[in-house]
Amino acid sequence: MSANIYIVEDEEPIITLIKYNLEKEGYKVFFSENGNDGIKGIKNSLPDLVLLDWMLPDFSGVEICKNLKKDIKFKNIPIIMLTAKGEEEDKIKGLNSGADDYITKPFSFPELLARVKALLRRSKPSVVADIVEFEDLKIDRMTRRVYRKKKEIHLGPKEYDLLNFFIKNPKRVYSREQILENVWSENINVENRTIDVHIRRLRQNINIIGVKELIRTVRSAGYSLS
Ligand code: CA
Repeated sequence: MSANIYIVEDEEPIITLIKYNLEKEGYKVFFSENGNDGIKGIKNSLPDLVLLDWMLPDFSGVEICKNLKKDIKFKNIPIIMLTAKGEEEDKIKGLNSGADDYITKPFSFPELLARVKALLRRSKPSVVADIVEFEDLKIDRMTRRVYRKKKEIHLGPKEYDLLNFFIKNPKRVYSREQILENVWSENINVENRTIDVHIRRLRQNINIIGVKELIRTVRSAGYSLS
């Protein structure tokens, strides 16, 4: 599993617990400890799923959820609310605000993981599937093999990561900063030029003469698979 998860939570022990365990499962984890940074961080990094605390020092989880769900660019990001209260009324409020699921604190990590996986499978199949296809392109994530028009293509590790990232949300345009954060998170001192070099290599590898380009450059915005 290689999904990116964003946690907005003000209790440090909970962040530590979730982050440590999700990373062990292969997820990439980002987090903020208040709502303001959380909204900015989510909009910037476009995660595959958000774990959102109900009670934050500045905003409530419900407000953040509404803020994201009203915007066409972010409304498809699945959200699980973490609530300390198990009251029926709060669950209803949370789900009415657009949250996709909720989990009551205290929870066990296996319980949380099961919810995360179930929600990703339901709302983002392209993120969790072993085999994912876009037009005539196919990625087998179990073997890290890539095919175009049924012919195998050999990619370098970074080019594979890039393609695997783009295919999670085809047609979405990513800025270089977003690509950097999601594909190079272990080394943030990467220059824009490096990203362009890897994109060029990826293009050269997946292009077939006479067949349409799959990686689109969007002027002053970034790149997308479309
Ligand atoms: Ca809290």
